[in-house]
Amino acid sequence: MELASIRDFSVQGKRVLVRVDLNVPLDEQGEVRDGTRIKASLPTIRYLLERGAKVILVSHLGRPKGKVKEELRLDSGAQRLSYFLKKKVHKTTQVVGEEVHKAVEQLSPGELLLLENVRFEPGEEKNDPRFARELASLADLYINDAFGTAHRAHASTVGVAEFLPAACGLLMEKEINILAGCLELPQRPLLTILGGAKVSDKIGVIKRFIGLADYILIGGAMANTFLKAKGFELGDSLVEEDKLKEARTLLEQAQRKGKDLILPQDLVVVKELKEGAFSKINAIEAVEPGWKAVDIGPQTIEKFTRLLREAKVILWNGPLGVFELPPFHRGTEAVARAVAQAQGYTVIGGGDIVAAVEQFGLASAIDHISTGGGATLEFWEGKELPGIAALRRSKEKKEER
Ligand code: ADP
Ligand code: MG
Repeated sequence: MELASIRDFSVQGKRVLVRVDLNVPLDEQGEVRDGTRIKASLPTIRYLLERGAKVILVSHLGRPKGKVKEELRLDSGAQRLSYFLKKKVHKTTQVVGEEVHKAVEQLSPGELLLLENVRFEPGEEKNDPRFARELASLADLYINDAFGTAHRAHASTVGVAEFLPAACGLLMEKEINILAGCLELPQRPLLTILGGAKVSDKIGVIKRFIGLADYILIGGAMANTFLKAKGFELGDSLVEEDKLKEARTLLEQAQRKGKDLILPQDLVVVKELKEGAFSKINAIEAVEPGWKAVDIGPQTIEKFTRLLREAKVILWNGPLGVFELPPFHRGTEAVARAVAQAQGYTVIGGGDIVAAVEQFGLASAIDHISTGGGATLEFWEGKELPGIAALRRSKEKKEER
């Protein structure tokens, strides 16, 4: 790997600033609803604590937009961390400043401090060098372990790497190795499944996969736009009318490469988008006005399942229907079961599809559940993520010296 690793440094007694991703969903009481991302950050934290580092964690939560928002303080994240680690987690009420410097001074080797939500500071999202320097002044070494935020060029993910020796943490390293490993010299057939709400979010990924994957299966509302671009009437289904041209271009590009975008053959349609609504199965040719597609139909499930059986690598982003409203989770669930049982190496990434697979109780049967949503998509697009680029530059600079 062309990046410096946490393993390359001796950390005993050092102050180590670790960018983690504690941006987890909270419930109405402000308690952590799903601690998956917190769990994923534990290996790096344990690694450092066991080796006697003074660990300073920094993370964002939600979108406070540079202002203090009481409901977005990181206290419940600190509690959950403390529960997982069976260890006290010191926490400051500020991100930088005197309180924070004092807390860092009082930290002993093997102790852990969590700074307040870094997006309370206006300098964070602006990647303000003054703020980045301020953060860097707390530590001797910077570790970025927040893969889920690596597609953002912020002070705590990019700027700070200019001022400190920088390396990736164990989670960052694992994500990069697995995601890159699936795409560089992939085992074949490489099968990808794309769903979710919008084509516009995923155009870059579709383009890359047209050049790379053997099969591209498409479901969800995104499929509606492609079906409409092919000339089918989709009734009142969610269609991105302003993306029809782009969808047509993608269909043509795929065809020129001898690859079909594999679209649904049948759909589940409803008149009213609500839980338990009356539904019927519809051929793609015949969705009537007033009806909308909310899931893939049984023939499509069968076809997808058949292709999944022979795949060596399976990459999946985006649910295939409105899985939040039962029974329109069925297509997503059936395909998730087929993915869980598949022989090939399976990777899923994306907020909603990960939540869906967790909800179906299938998460443990997936080989790699990426902690990135947007970050995973951009990685699949072949973009170098700013957070990763910053670590690479930092290593290059060190080698020049
Ligand atoms: P991910 O977070 O996995 O990347 P997206 O955010 O792109 O996925 O899309 C998830 C959303 O897409 C879900 O809220 C789901 O209800 C919606 N969706 C999927 N299929 C349809 C459909 N046929 N019509 C409307 N919305 C859909
Ligand atoms: Mg989403």
